[in-house]
Order: sequence, then structure tokens, then C-alpha cells
Amino acid sequence: MSTDLAREIARTYFPGARSENEGRLRGEMDATLDHWFRWRSARFEDSAPVDPQPVGATAGAPRADDRLGQRLLALCDAMTAETPTFSPRYIAHMKSDLSLPGLLGWFAAMLHNPNNSSRDASRAGTVIETQAIAALADMLGYDPARAQGHFTSGGTVANFEAVWRARYRLDHWLALALHVAETTGARLDPFAAAHMGWARFRDLCATHAVSDDVLKACSAAASNPGDIWRRISRASGQDYMGPVMLVPGNRHYSWSKSANIFGLGGEAIWSIALDASGRLDLTDFQRLVARAEAEGRPILMVVAVAGATETGAVDPLDRLYDRMDDWQTERGWRIWRHVDAAYGGFLGAMLDGPSEAALTSETAAALRAMRRSDSITIDPHKLGYVPYACGAFLAPDAERYAVSAFDAPYLDRPELGDGKWTSTLEGSRSAAGAAATWLTAETIGLAADGFGALMAATLDARQAFQTAVRDAVPEARFLPADSNIACFSLARTGEALSRSNARTGAVFDHFQTSPDFAVSKTTLGRDNAALMASVLAGHDGRDDAADGHGGMLVIRCVFMNPYWSEPSVRQDLLPRFIKELRQALADADRAQVA
Ligand SMILES: *Cc1c(COP(=O)(O)O)cnc(C)c1O
Repeated sequence: MSTDLAREIARTYFPGARSENEGRLRGEMDATLDHWFRWRSARFEDSAPVDPQPVGATAGAPRADDRLGQRLLALCDAMTAETPTFSPRYIAHMKSDLSLPGLLGWFAAMLHNPNNSSRDASRAGTVIETQAIAALADMLGYDPARAQGHFTSGGTVANFEAVWRARYRLDHWLALALHVAETTGARLDPFAAAHMGWARFRDLCATHAVSDDVLKACSAAASNPGDIWRRISRASGQDYMGPVMLVPGNRHYSWSKSANIFGLGGEAIWSIALDASGRLDLTDFQRLVARAEAEGRPILMVVAVAGATETGAVDPLDRLYDRMDDWQTERGWRIWRHVDAAYGGFLGAMLDGPSEAALTSETAAALRAMRRSDSITIDPHKLGYVPYACGAFLAPDAERYAVSAFDAPYLDRPELGDGKWTSTLEGSRSAAGAAATWLTAETIGLAADGFGALMAATLDARQAFQTAVRDAVPEARFLPADSNIACFSLARTGEALSRSNARTGAVFDHFQTSPDFAVSKTTLGRDNAALMASVLAGHDGRDDAADGHGGMLVIRCVFMNPYWSEPSVRQDLLPRFIKELRQALADADRAQVA
């Protein structure tokens, strides 16, 4: 049922693996251009026309439009050196063909080029953005009427948006507690203070009649951080070492960048260990929280990942948040919860419909808990099939969406408050990504009977691939998979890790030169020690690295391409892939013997 639906979506809303929908795309592009030119022509009809002959175009010299045509063709030629990522044979990275609504929504908005930094510069674009954010919010489980957010250039910036807000909140709470401690002489507990909650904040503000200026003078963000940290140390009787961020070992490197950009220092990123399935380990998480409390280090935010970049793993958000809920009840700690669903956010469409059956109950429960997050990152330019650069940041309500109100010019000058620019890290922002996402939601739909079916088909394709490869190639050792990414090493029974790494590397190199398939590779590191141990145990392998912590090389295949939903594509490509894999293995063995 849901498979048929996915095939229909892939056939209707994508260009087609063999460009079957060329006519449709051309027609709609043309209709869009027609509409745009009619709109232009109907404007200012009383203006004098400009001589249609381009200035300077004389006989003999190349006409200006010829030069454009020629150089445009040269540009098109140059672009043919790009990897053909539209094809289902491309399973290397988080990229595949773009959808027709993605392309056309983008194109329609691009022609008008609205700047979503303000409503003035984008009368329609900002409205479309609000509606597109509501559609994403609905898919992610937020109340679309209350949720707030905006489009970003990608997941990296969306993650920064979350840090910016979490810091604003923590900074306010800690600043107030510092002021109270300094004025009353009570001892400051930076850990408890930094997680006090807005209700307590408002109570204390009222009790102590605290003005914004007083708060600012106690804020590390608004005044001098060195001075504030020194005063926190004095008020708490313990050297203050600053806040930490708890981020799982499967994190994207944008998190390390955020520590750098927000001036936290690299040490402030505390890595949560991963379990044998490559997901955030709850025991280690609790250990780190206990350590932060003992050391008086506030937790700026806890990050969980839905769809890890390397393996597609989905962290157990439900159980993580249960634990944090308990702390909130028992200890009053309100710790910021962010889910980095840059890749996996669209899997949320599978919930509450037949497509949910493609998820394990664990993964479904984790995805269902995304709605309990203080903020979410999602990348429509990954599993949303819209063009780059299109990410989005969402919060469940205006309170969580707020950023520092200190020095916000729109407070004094309300006329400036007519756009998002005061609450976005980026300034000028294109409306094209929002329009592409909007058209996707209006056509394919972001519910179980639209995107849900499509996502289920990508998981099904990953499973079909894994089953076929495992049956044909006994050396293929697959990692556990929560979504549509398959990772495997090529190891023989009882073998040392260095040996299987060499074989996996040789096979990867073979695929690098293959004209038929593109795959990627990644190396599981120390953070994945438990997962590696479990994979090694599966074939009696052993880690022979001198320090006992060798990395495990795996081949990574991302099954996001919609055409894999077609049985004919699978029947064509799976045997070819297996043949090539066998060939690569035979070559690697021969090289070993030689
Ligand atoms: C891709 C990705 C990011 C970064 O997103 P960009 O759009 O490349 O900036 C962050 N987190 C995760 C989990 C990702 O997969």
C-alpha cells in the first residue's frame, strides 16, 4: 500500500531516473516564466519602452545576447563535470535528485527574489515562510499554531541558532542569580541557578525589583565575561569554569564549530558516549550531568541526534527526555533540549500512518519525542529534496524562540520589528528555500500519506540492499541501521581489524574509480567503541591496534534516492552492485596474495 504510494510520488513529483518527466518540468518552468513576464508587463504600462536593440550591438561585433548564449553554454558544459547525483546509482552522500516541487518552488521565488529579512523587502516571501515553518512544525509534532522558526542556509546555522537561544536563556537566569547572591550574600549555586526556569526568574525579578540594566551588568553575554566569571567564582566559593554542552559522539562537526564561534572553548563540548547500536548512551549521559553538577558547570544544552550523519542512527530521545523530565520535577532543572534532526527530521512524517511500520518501535518512539524538544534543526535540502541552501530552525513557542532582548533596536524602534532579522543570525535571507518547502508540503504533503510513504520506501530500499548484499557476500558486516543509511565493513571470521580495514579500504578504492556506482566511507572512532566491539564479536574479529582503539573503516551507502522505490530499479541495480562488490573483493584478495 505505502509502497505503491511511494512509487506514485516518485513518478509524479521527480524528474525521473531517465528524465521521464522532462516534458512536465519544461511545461511548468515555461508556465512559471509566462506568469512572471505577464506580471512584469502589466506593471507600469505607461513607462516609455527602451529600444529593444541592445546598446552597442553593431554589425560584425558579437551581439550581447549571443555572448550570453555562448558563455551560458560554456557554463552548462562546465557543470557536466559534476557527479550525476540524480541517479539511483549515486548512494554516496546525503544528496539525490531534487523533487519537481522543490525545483519549481525555488524557481518561482527566485524570479521575484524576495529578501526575507524584513516584511518590507518580502511581502509574500515572509508569509510563505511562516506557512512553510508551520508545515514543518506539524510534521515534527509541534503545534503549528504556536511554533516559531525560520529558514537558514543549512543545518549548521540552524544548530547555531539553537545555541544562541539557549545561551540567551541561561545567561539571563545566571545573571539574575548572581545579582541576588551579590546583594543578599547568599551562596550562589551556578548549576541550579542556570536551570531555574522562567517562572522562578520572574518571581525573583519581582521580589528583588531587578531592572534590565542591573541584569545586563551581571550578564556574561552583555557585559564583560571575564569579570562575570570572576564574580560567579567569588559568589559561589568555587572557581567557575563556564558552561558545557552535552553532545553525543555521533555529532556533526557543526557542534565543534559552535563551541568555537560562541567562545565556549573546545573543552566545553562534553561528548556523550555511544552504545552498542551507535546511539547516545543514557548511562554515560547521566554520568556527565552528575559531573557537571559536581563541578558547578551549567549545562548550556543537551543535544540528541535524529539521523546521525555517519550511520543514520536515531538517539533514544524519548528515554533521554523522560530522564530530564524527572529532573525537572524532582530538582527543578530546566535544561535546554535540542534535537539535531538535520537529516532525520523528515522521518517524522512516517509516524501515525501505515508507513510507521517501516520503523522499529524504538526509532518510532524516539522520533515521536522530537516534539518534546526546546528546539529542532531540520534540513529540507537533505531528505526534503529541495535545492541548496535550505535548512530550518524551529522552536515550539515564542518563549523558546526568543533571543537576547538586550540592545534589541526594535524595542525602542517598533517600526523595525516587522521582520525576522532581529532574531536570525543571518541577515539577508532568500525566500526560495521556504517557497520550495511550501510547494512540497502543498503537493507531496508532509504527512504519513505523502512524505511518510516516500521515507518508508527509502528505509525499505536500504533493507532490500542489505539483505541482498548479505546473502551474496558473507564478508559484509552491516552496522545496525535505524534509517536509510547502510554501513558495512568487509571482514572474514576471526580476522584482525587492521586486515579487514585494509580489505574494506581496497574495495572502497575500487568503487572510487567505478563509473557505475558511487559510495562513501567513514571510520568509526573511539566514540563508537561499543558498536565496534559488537560488530567484531559478530565474526570473532579482534582489535589489533597497539592501544586497543583502532578505528573501523566502513563503506557507507545512503538510500535516499526516490527511484529505489521502483522494483525495476532494484532488479537492475542490486545484481550489478553485488557483481561489482565481488569483483572488488577478488581484486583485493589478489593484491593481498601478490
Ligand atoms: C548535514 C548535517 C548538519 C549540517 O547541515 P548543513 O546543512 O550541511 O549545514 C548538521 N547535523 C547533522 C546531523 C547533519 O546530518
